Amino acid sequence: MPSDSIEQLRAAVRDVPDFPKPGIIFKDITPILQDGALFRAAIDLFRERCRGLEIDKIVCIDARGFLFGSAVAYELGIGLVPIRKRGKLPYKTERAAYTLEYGEAEMEMHVDSVTPGERIVLIDDLLATGGTSASAVTLIKKVGGELVEAQFLIELAFLHGREKLQSEQVVSFLTY
Ligand code: AMP
Repeated sequence: MPSDSIEQLRAAVRDVPDFPKPGIIFKDITPILQDGALFRAAIDLFRERCRGLEIDKIVCIDARGFLFGSAVAYELGIGLVPIRKRGKLPYKTERAAYTLEYGEAEMEMHVDSVTPGERIVLIDDLLATGGTSASAVTLIKKVGGELVEAQFLIELAFLHGREKLQSEQVVSFLTY
């Protein structure tokens, strides 16, 4: 794949300054989603990366992680598990707190969403400071999953999110 695809995807990511608050440059992936060939190219990157990893389930993070994770799980013919912000999942959950710029928030995962020992790939759109995905890793382990690797379409390397996922395998396709 194509370094061509990587460059086309990179060119499509739109920087939106001062969203959702002043000083943040938001990486908008909707131009990728709305172009059939680019959306497919993005899903193909994840799918090819997953090939041979013998994964049982994809776990993806509320909300943009769902957009990529669900298509990858469909392509691989394996199950999909959502991690959601507190209060959204209807059944019994495990919880993990994570740090936001101001204060804390919590993520949840259904207690029975993973069978102990299942091999998991975690998918989200973007790795920034790593707090969100670190809480997702905590949840996957709490429910007994074995994290094979965490995959992101985009990594903001200058925020050093990898450091929060130190003992995990981390893969990203577009690095800024
Ligand atoms: P973090 O916990 O700091 O790694 O933030 C990662 C989560 O926040 C991901 O689910 C992203 O969708 C979102 N996010 C954080 N920063 C940005 C950004 N600059 N542009 C787009 N999404 C972001």
